[in-house]
Amino acid sequence: MRHMQIWFASAWLSAGLSPSMWEDAAFVAAAFVVGAMVGSFINVVVCRVPQGRTVVHGRSACPACGHVVRPRDNVPILGWLLLGGRCRDCRSPISPAYAIVEAACGLALAALAVAEIVAWRSAGSSLPLIERALVLDEWSWLSGWAGRGVAALTVVTWGLLARGGHVVTWRTTLVAAAVVALLVAAASPSPARGLVHALTGAAAGWAAGAWAGGPAAHRILILICTAAAGGWPAAAGWFRSLWGG
Ligand SMILES: [Zn+2]
Repeated sequence: MRHMQIWFASAWLSAGLSPSMWEDAAFVAAAFVVGAMVGSFINVVVCRVPQGRTVVHGRSACPACGHVVRPRDNVPILGWLLLGGRCRDCRSPISPAYAIVEAACGLALAALAVAEIVAWRSAGSSLPLIERALVLDEWSWLSGWAGRGVAALTVVTWGLLARGGHVVTWRTTLVAAAVVALLVAAASPSPARGLVHALTGAAAGWAAGAWAGGPAAHRILILICTAAAGGWPAAAGWFRSLWGG
């Protein structure tokens, strides 16, 4: 066991990265993979929801020849690249948009992971972010990251649906907003205050959305929820400082 540790330590040092940096890099890579997988699901949602089809059951099929997509060709980004952007059965071209959406969703979650790491490290900690959860038993940041992730990926989904002319219902929008609000509230040092921040942001988003009207309203609502997730506590602090509090 001890030999293993020494071997790993020397491998880390020879790669020029400290062990803790490797753990942060692994978290960012994992975030990218999760994002790309969600992006793959978003592609299914954007394709099927406007047609009134379920997103829970049924395998994806080639729109040209109808052959069911094999699991190994369904791997996000890599599947499209390895097939050279063509169906394995009929060789008709597959839009690069699918792989681009997957890459964009992966990058979004990875960027949010980097933001969490920078915030944690700039607070003066030498501990990798993952160990903040595993060693210090502090999990709330994970909830905040997930909340911001849900908000970002919802904006992507809503945007793609709106581009195809499909109007998202207010009910789905509210469910997404509630998920974001709860995740972000759980990440706050004071859950009750966090919930107030998130709900105030969602209410402001609702008002702005109702005023703007149309599909753009949904995107505005979610964008403001995202702002509520990260920016509202900061804005509240700024207002407090104006009042000399
Ligand atoms: Zn085909």
